[in-house]
Amino acid sequence: MGAKEQREIFSAEGRADLHLHTTFSDGALTPQELVKKAQAAGLKAIAITDHDHVGALEEAVDWGKTYGVEVISGLELSATFGEKDIHILAYFFDPTDKNLLEYLEVFRKERLRRAERIVEKLNKINIPITLDSVLKKAGEGSIGRPHIANALLDKGLTGTYHEAFTKYIGTNGPAYEKKFQLSPEEAMRLVTSSGGLSFLAHPGNYTTDAELLDLIRKGMDGIEVVHPSHSESRQEYYRGVVNQYFLLESGGSDYHGGKKNDDYAFGAFSVPLHVVETMRSRLFG
Ligand code: AMP
Ligand code: FE
Ligand code: FE
Ligand code: ZN
Repeated sequence: MGAKEQREIFSAEGRADLHLHTTFSDGALTPQELVKKAQAAGLKAIAITDHDHVGALEEAVDWGKTYGVEVISGLELSATFGEKDIHILAYFFDPTDKNLLEYLEVFRKERLRRAERIVEKLNKINIPITLDSVLKKAGEGSIGRPHIANALLDKGLTGTYHEAFTKYIGTNGPAYEKKFQLSPEEAMRLVTSSGGLSFLAHPGNYTTDAELLDLIRKGMDGIEVVHPSHSESRQEYYRGVVNQYFLLESGGSDYHGGKKNDDYAFGAFSVPLHVVETMRSRLFG
């Protein structure tokens, strides 16, 4: 088969975006708006992966039936790995699992307390931001630093969204506060016990190749290969690791919408549909 035929089969198969955020975390679109946008972009399947929140999933699955887009259950957890904060994507878990829901509740309460501490720190350095303005940004979703950055931006207390991190709330900023501590092993156990698969999210952002191997040894099921922060050569490297260790591949746009300026990524960072089927067969045979 020539390259042209291969490309034709490839495009006929359809594409999936397995990393998307809604208003249930720091995304700008509601589940319905996001599913509709996925249909318009010609995507066949998506995973909504809100931070510490599965609240979008039930309605998104229903909207998926309306718009003809398969919606698989997703979630993005944060874990502490040495001095670093890493993100773990979970797929195909049971979103009604009681144990999982209880943990997520705890994480979100801890996020609220952390936002309170960050606001206090900002006030101490004479940045007049209110917790209320941050809560309004978060709405029904789990609170994160992006909401604080947007609240600062709205009040003109920072020039750009990114500057809020470099000047105030980033890892080395004067108003930085650590998140609730959960080890990668604990996060993966939580995913496994609710029937899902764990993937290391966007390793190119923060994980050295040695750390990546350590996380594979700890039981990561797969790696997010396709992500806007990964160059072609990084993608090839991660795909090689996936094959070498018999892992699974994932990928998506990490689209948030709104002020994140990531509209270019939607539809442009995706994986072929068989990636989803491979995950399913790893779990269900
Ligand atoms: P949180 O989960 O509350 O710690 O927020 C983490 C999120 O903040 C990440 O997923 C990014 O979207 C965003 N973020 C973290 N650091 C930066 C940075 N330096 N510049 C812009 N956005 C950042
Ligand atoms: Fe986010
Ligand atoms: Fe992430
Ligand atoms: Zn994300």
